[in-house]
Amino acid sequence: MPRQDRRVIMLADCQSFYASVEKSAHPEYKDRPLVVAGDPARRSGIILAACPLAKSYGITTAERLGEALAKCPDVVVVRPRMAEYIRVSLHITRILQSYTDLVEPYSIDEQFLDVTGSLDLFGSPETIARSIQSRVMDETGVYIRINQ
Ligand SMILES: [Mg+2]
Repeated sequence: MPRQDRRVIMLADCQSFYASVEKSAHPEYKDRPLVVAGDPARRSGIILAACPLAKSYGITTAERLGEALAKCPDVVVVRPRMAEYIRVSLHITRILQSYTDLVEPYSIDEQFLDVTGSLDLFGSPETIARSIQSRVMDETGVYIRINQ
């Protein structure tokens, strides 16, 4: 009888990905509300990402920068650095690939992984999820949710 006859597939989803990468790159903004927005000079720019603290002020992704500034005038506004987000995303892919060769990037901040064949080597799905979370946090500063 196979040891594991149910496939164990996880979705690894980065929390507030662009904003988390910027907070990791700028420790001085650690305790400040921060958004990534198209063009800080133009209040009509669009919010691409907001950190959890910025979201606590009611700021949401895809709203206009002017609206976000009205909700939280001292929010830190950072321009997007797409090349850096792609680099971090690929780094996370490599971390996931150290647990299984079945990794399927779905978007820049979401990746599926099939760990069915990894359980004997790495432990329970919960153990694997915690291990991935701490490695991604240590190496990139990004909190990654693992949903099964
Ligand atoms: Mg996400």
